[in-house]
Amino acid sequence: MPTSRIAVVGTGIIGAMTAWRLALRGADVVAFDTHSPGHDRGASAGESRIFRTAYKEGSSYVPLLRRSQEIWRELERSAATRLLTLCGGLTIGSPDDPDVAAVRRCAEERGLEHEVLETAEASRRFPQHRLDDGEVMVLDPAAGVLRPEIAVQAALLAAETAGARVLPRSPVDAAGETSSGWRISSNGAVFDVDHVIFAPGPWARQLDPLRNLPVQPRMLTACWFPARDVAAHEPDSLPVAIRRHSEAGFSCFPALDGVSIKIIPHHLARPDVARPEDLPRTASTEFAHAASLAAQRLLPGVTPHPIRITTYAEGFTPDEHALLGALPGHDRATVMTGFSGHGFKLAPVLGEVGADLALGGTPAHDIAHLDPRRFGEGIDD
Ligand SMILES: Cc1cc2nc3c(=O)[nH]c(=O)nc-3n(C[C@H](O)[C@H](O)[C@H](O)COP(=O)(O)OP(=O)(O)OC[C@H]3O[C@@H](n4cnc5c(N)ncnc54)[C@H](O)[C@@H]3O)c2cc1C
Repeated sequence: MPTSRIAVVGTGIIGAMTAWRLALRGADVVAFDTHSPGHDRGASAGESRIFRTAYKEGSSYVPLLRRSQEIWRELERSAATRLLTLCGGLTIGSPDDPDVAAVRRCAEERGLEHEVLETAEASRRFPQHRLDDGEVMVLDPAAGVLRPEIAVQAALLAAETAGARVLPRSPVDAAGETSSGWRISSNGAVFDVDHVIFAPGPWARQLDPLRNLPVQPRMLTACWFPARDVAAHEPDSLPVAIRRHSEAGFSCFPALDGVSIKIIPHHLARPDVARPEDLPRTASTEFAHAASLAAQRLLPGVTPHPIRITTYAEGFTPDEHALLGALPGHDRATVMTGFSGHGFKLAPVLGEVGADLALGGTPAHDIAHLDPRRFGEGIDD
């Protein structure tokens, strides 16, 4: 059988993982990115990402997460570096909170190891978080933190080692279907391939064949607060957390820089941006002030003034589940976008699914709920 020629457009974590899994299976892969791998303008940067197994988004994700973890470990061996630290994960809030309840339900349905810590016990074990009366913590010991920039680079190096051509600073400015596949243009050169994987993250609608997909770029903002006792806030002592709270919810990452913990506020707006290029490079004064109040209210061990604030773009779909499958209306094209704030941990298994689809196989995992056709023909022009 002739070798399949496959183009991957975009090498954030999704495209990087897919290029790697395709190259391992003998495909002739060429992977393009406008920027350099690990850059900070898209969705795959910012020092840390949460890995969770008890998944509030639905227990159907659990097998995908288990397979992802195996591949994260495979990539660590290939790169001889640590990418995933299983420091445990906390979901914190009222027992009636929908996310707290969903994590418990998922763990119970799937028989996952977990602990529910009532207020006094939770405050004793994790005093880094201040609890209101009656709040609980659900501890998922199989959760942890991933290192995004290193992971993207490790996946691309593994792809190159397996034979892929990786082309940074190579924007794809045109992609059109031909009688036998696709023609891709970048930096004045033309590439004819049998199949194309579109993995452009929040840039999806800027590519002509994807312009009708319902993927809205939004701005997410991360703030780093210095820890007074850094050791008590490092991964050995502090699990990664999702802190639910009506006035001040956030995701919270242990100190990885020897100085500060990171929070991503959930109770503040994640504004739409027309294009990722339009992303403001920092937050407004009002946002910084509100993030400080959240830290002051709920994180007693930090100085509540951010020392770093950075913005990132991510593509969101209307139901906040990704688009993964055949590009509607086109043969020989797979779309992988719209990961809506939770694609990083899943990228390894999604890369495997993308490789299955591009090579004409049936994916080993059930991804029916991610089918891009669930939104019909997409949005109107
Ligand atoms: C702040 C933040 C926090 C998050 N936290 C978590 C978390 O804790 N856990 C989790 O699992 N997920 C999390 N997510 C979500 C996760 O990080 C993303 O879903 C994931 O990184 C998406 O990767 P991607 O490859 O689709 O997009 P990107 O990383 O944005 O990659 C897309 C790439 O395509 C390239 N590109 C676009 N158009 C073209 C073109 N025409 N030609 C060539 N290249 C092109 C871009 O340059 C870019 O490099 C978070 C996201 C953000 C932004």
